This record gives sequence, structure tokens and C-alpha cells, in this order.
Amino acid sequence: MLKCPYCCEELTSEVNRCVHCSQFLIDDIIHSDFPSLDKKKCVFCGKKILSRAKICKHCHKWLDELDQAVRDVDPDDLV
Ligand SMILES: [Zn+2]
Ligand SMILES: [Zn+2]
Repeated sequence: MLKCPYCCEELTSEVNRCVHCSQFLIDDIIHSDFPSLDKKKCVFCGKKILSRAKICKHCHKWLDELDQAVRDVDPDDLV
């Protein structure tokens, strides 16, 4: 079972576009340099994903919880 990385709704089959939020799920869009799309590297597998993605589409790990944890850390604690 697939999950849409944008709205996290379940997708029943291999679709190119999420039926729930109409986001394209095509790899080419992420891999090509699309200036309007904010990208970041997955901290788990290092592959490019959209910065607003909640789940890495490659390794399927949740990213928003980690972001939250990082933001909660006081920068001084890292020194
Ligand atoms: Zn969706
Ligand atoms: Zn990943």
C-alpha cells in the first residue's frame, strides 16, 4: 500500500498523481531541477525529496517528527 507523501492518504495502486490532493508523484519532477519546487535531502537515505514532504518517498521514513525534534533542540546544546 502506497501513501501519498503530501497528504498521507493511502493510494491503492501505482498512480502518477495522488487522487486525494492531486500532487504529482512522478520521480522525474523531483529529480529534475524544478526551480519552483523546494527540495531537501532525506536525512535517512540522502535522496532528493520535496521539502514539504512528510514521508520520504524513497525510504518511507517520517520526516516531520524529526524536523520537529531538531527545531526543539537548543543550538547551544550542540556546541
Ligand atoms: Zn495526496
Ligand atoms: Zn529517505
